Amino acid sequence: MKKKFPTIPHLFSILFLFVLFSMPFGLIQSFTPKSWSAWVMLFAYVIPMYLTIWATRRIYDKQGQINYQPKHFVLFPVIVILAYAFLVVGEFTVFLLPQPTGIWKKLFDMLNQSLSEVFNHPVAGFLMVAVAAPILEETLFRGIILKALLKKYRPFKAILISAVAFGIFHLNPWQFLYATTLGLFLGYVYWKTRSLFYPIVIHMLLNGTAFFAVHYSQVDPNRGLVETLSGQDLQKYLVLVSLALILIIAGYFYLEYYFKKVPQELVLATQNQHKIAEIKKILPENIQLKSLKDLNFKGRLKESGHTLEENAKQKLYQITQKYDVDALADDTGLEVQALNGAPGVLSARFAGENATYADNVNKLLTEMKDKENRSAQFKTVIAYSHGPDEYLISGTLKGKIAKEPRGEGGFGYDSVFIPEGYEKTFAEMGEETKNKISHRAIALNKLKEILNRKN
Ligand code: IMP
Repeated sequence: MKKKFPTIPHLFSILFLFVLFSMPFGLIQSFTPKSWSAWVMLFAYVIPMYLTIWATRRIYDKQGQINYQPKHFVLFPVIVILAYAFLVVGEFTVFLLPQPTGIWKKLFDMLNQSLSEVFNHPVAGFLMVAVAAPILEETLFRGIILKALLKKYRPFKAILISAVAFGIFHLNPWQFLYATTLGLFLGYVYWKTRSLFYPIVIHMLLNGTAFFAVHYSQVDPNRGLVETLSGQDLQKYLVLVSLALILIIAGYFYLEYYFKKVPQELVLATQNQHKIAEIKKILPENIQLKSLKDLNFKGRLKESGHTLEENAKQKLYQITQKYDVDALADDTGLEVQALNGAPGVLSARFAGENATYADNVNKLLTEMKDKENRSAQFKTVIAYSHGPDEYLISGTLKGKIAKEPRGEGGFGYDSVFIPEGYEKTFAEMGEETKNKISHRAIALNKLKEILNRKN
């Protein structure tokens, strides 16, 4: 079976693409006059990075949507304080690393040499460090890579892998720990908000601060920003790092507390309003049901499976592959024994593609005209996905097919289905009774148990 994106080879192939796209710019740079080199560097970063994102999406994440929507404004001050606390701790990791010597020193100086050229240009430098890098890097590492990892692994593992990949991508051993530490924070914020808004804001603030510090003050980019600012006083520096760590722990608990109270969104992959109302009634309070309309989903969901299970999963995947959301989809069918399980998956289209409920009921009664065995069952299958976890739940209700339609209520085959232990059809017994005993109610009760366990 093909391994789901992103595997380690996938991540390296993304890095390889970036290096490949960067190569021609390396060549161009060697021919550019010095006065232009900061601008060339800006384009030598932006174009390969943009192409890498474009190619990654084309190859691995064709349908995926990236969410930049601003959300949770009240968290702004907390997020800003936390971002600077991470800057202090991240910079400390640079300070902990042994300073390069020998060949490493040469490499390090080379990396810093080209970096300081951009840093020294007030406009090109600012655009690259504080604007382009945050947008492009967050789009790739959080918007594409972490989003996919969160569908494969538990959040901690997914965030850790994306942070390490972010660290490696900086292609500078002395920045690895700093970028990884920052990647953990950015990943955590993305996971909680499912939007790139805060990750981009944090990244802009931190890169912008570093840029201004290096450009307008005497900070030495070869040594940590905080280290230089706090001077040579190690004691003062350690107090600052400890304070930052305390802030991070306090901030973490605050964010956990905040997000516990925020309703979790769950998208119902159906175009049927009737179902939305029915499902809403059974959901725990901290779940907010969203429809396809809320997602701005256009068109119809495809259902071309051979079983109810296949159809439910197919509908679910059309949503979860496109949007970074928890979702559920269902499929229901009437299975009649004398018709070898028909209409089954074809229940909605039994009498043809655009058949009405009445057309389907008429066709069913015609086919059942001479049948002695009138046993049937309704079956509902619900596919539910929450991060990397997927559930397939079903509810069945046995009964029999009436000789003719009876009752005014309900929809679909309600007028000809008599549940076991009852005399009335679904259409005769009224919605309240039906909704207590129905196939869908059985499946939804199982779903409710799972949702309660999770929330
Ligand atoms: P769906 O998968 O829920 O859209 O259901 C497919 C078809 O099964 C519908 O078009 C209805 O004809 C039928 N159906 C589903 N649920 C019910 C029900 O509760 N009563 C009667 N017919 C149903």
